Amino acid sequence: CGIIGVLSRHEAAPLLVESLKRLEYRGYDSAGIATINNGTLERRRAVGKLVNLQDRLVHEPLAGKVGIGHTRWATHGVPNEANAHPHRAAGVAVVHNGIIENFRELRAFLAENGISYSTDTDTETIALLAQYYLDLGHSPRDAARDTIARLEGAYAVCFLFDGQDDLLIAARKGSPLAVGYGDGENFIGSDAIALAPITDRISYLDEGDWVILTRTSVEIRNAAGEQVSRPIRKIEGGS
Ligand code: GLU
Repeated sequence: CGIIGVLSRHEAAPLLVESLKRLEYRGYDSAGIATINNGTLERRRAVGKLVNLQDRLVHEPLAGKVGIGHTRWATHGVPNEANAHPHRAAGVAVVHNGIIENFRELRAFLAENGISYSTDTDTETIALLAQYYLDLGHSPRDAARDTIARLEGAYAVCFLFDGQDDLLIAARKGSPLAVGYGDGENFIGSDAIALAPITDRISYLDEGDWVILTRTSVEIRNAAGEQVSRPIRKIEGGS
């Protein structure tokens, strides 16, 4: 299982699929991607091999230069399309690897606020919680920050916001995540292997880090909210 996010100058979907192929070695049962397609957040998902997702994309293409992708190894909820990532609420989509240990508490909190879930996954609560904060009037950045602060368990997570063509926010705790640096483009991925098709310069995030990416900026913050820098290394075989 793995995640990938791209803020590219080129079409995102082929880059996302290529990176997901590199992550196949980790094992998975379903896959999906989301992009800002002509200004609107849209997703495609498929159970089984990546070729099923690719077939779906042939018939229902996704345009857009920003996007997120996921291969799922189900922990909560059977491997079906409804449980496949990206998960979404009205204005935000989320890919996640790991387990949100307190998802039942979060569901209860959301229920008290009239928000109900529609999948069997722990991950959906991340999207619903982020939407809850957006609905309070939070910016995407503050919504992501406040959502991440409430997550217990292990996660590598990446948020894509509707209408936001130049923003990705990601975080890690207990699961690896790396930033990839391009020329007028930036990326986020589970590991160097995922990022190798698109860049040769990466930084591994530290435990508890979260990162706000645009095409021209990478702002890494630690769990205390302080801005930090992580060493950039060159990877062999990266492009
Ligand atoms: N716990 C999440 C799920 O079951 C993520 C699994 C994964 O790491 O792929 O959907």
